[in-house]
Amino acid sequence: MSGMNRREWLGSVGAAVAAGALRKTAPDPAQVKSPEGAGKMRLELSEFQPKSMLHVGETKVPQARFPVIDIHTHLSFRANSRNGVGLGEKLEFLATPETVLPVMDRKNIRMMVNLTGGSGSGLSQAIERFEKPHADRFVTFTEPLWDQSAGPGYEKIQADAIASAKTAGARGLKVLKTLGLYLRERVTEGPLVKIDDRRFDSMWEACGSLNMPVAIHVSDPEAFFLPTDRFNERFEELNNHPDWSFHGKDFPSNAELLEARNRVLARHPKTHFILLHVGNDAENLAYVGECLDRFPNTSVELGARIGELGRQPRASRKFFDRYQDRILFGTDAVPNGTDTPQQIFGDALYEIYYRFLESEDEYFDYAPAPVPPQGRWRIYGIGLPEPILRKIYHENAARALHLKT
Ligand SMILES: [Zn+2]
Repeated sequence: MSGMNRREWLGSVGAAVAAGALRKTAPDPAQVKSPEGAGKMRLELSEFQPKSMLHVGETKVPQARFPVIDIHTHLSFRANSRNGVGLGEKLEFLATPETVLPVMDRKNIRMMVNLTGGSGSGLSQAIERFEKPHADRFVTFTEPLWDQSAGPGYEKIQADAIASAKTAGARGLKVLKTLGLYLRERVTEGPLVKIDDRRFDSMWEACGSLNMPVAIHVSDPEAFFLPTDRFNERFEELNNHPDWSFHGKDFPSNAELLEARNRVLARHPKTHFILLHVGNDAENLAYVGECLDRFPNTSVELGARIGELGRQPRASRKFFDRYQDRILFGTDAVPNGTDTPQQIFGDALYEIYYRFLESEDEYFDYAPAPVPPQGRWRIYGIGLPEPILRKIYHENAARALHLKT
């Protein structure tokens, strides 16, 4: 388990779980018998790495069957942020075209959409770096000017910024979960700003009138809003990243965030919203389906949620069937890093997505990691037929981005 420092783990929660095994004189905790009975060993959860004894086939899918547009990647990020809010125009770049193109070619990725292209001079740099030399391989989205959201005249400033971003070459707008979970009335302080706050109406409208889709991340997995305890199915993930928990404090509930988002979707019917991470409720496909039915101006994307989709393969298969024209391929891939194995850009990541979509394999890992990083379960392939694969892999995204295929 990358990043999970064993000592930290023992220090916080392990101490309670394995209290009996932690006496200073104790030998290897795994060998210590529990007080409850002979032969019962203690084992740290972090050390448990069961190997499946299932004899089932393994389909290698080194290349997607059809060319791919990955609608959800991060090749740059705003260099400065405070209390979770990205500030200023300066961007930090995580890759060069030369570092990602070979992987793209090997994996049949025709195009990568860098959602976090920032704004102003940062945006121009991102476009200069990726799109200018490789116009047919990269697309860049812009982001809101959070640092100006508390100032006078923000509505107009933001709408104008969207128009200038379009002129500079941005093809859409990305909204991180900043909105709803980090942005505050005085930008980084004060009460949280609501997702449906009126000050953003001009931004959503500008995107609609300029044919720029809005890729929006709202809320997070349902488990992130619950206590990090032994009942939490993402216990290890949250224990590893305590700052990912939105339980308590002044955070709204997951349902409140999604409902505020829905009011935005209803208020701006001419704007196309790409609801990232399977509408941010992959745990509840019935609800995501209702949203897609209610709001024809939306589509969803798969990034970092095949773990959720793949553990409910029958429901997922029906979902893909029913909404085959409104699901976009995306991974949330980030070059480099070790913290989130389910998102590290590279061959292994894409092979798992392709295997999930194309094969009917049983019970395999949803991330290239020794321990499933989002929760201790495995997934099943949904074996989509070719016409649906073609739509998911690129046709739906090409339409959303107004590209010619
Ligand atoms: Zn993302």
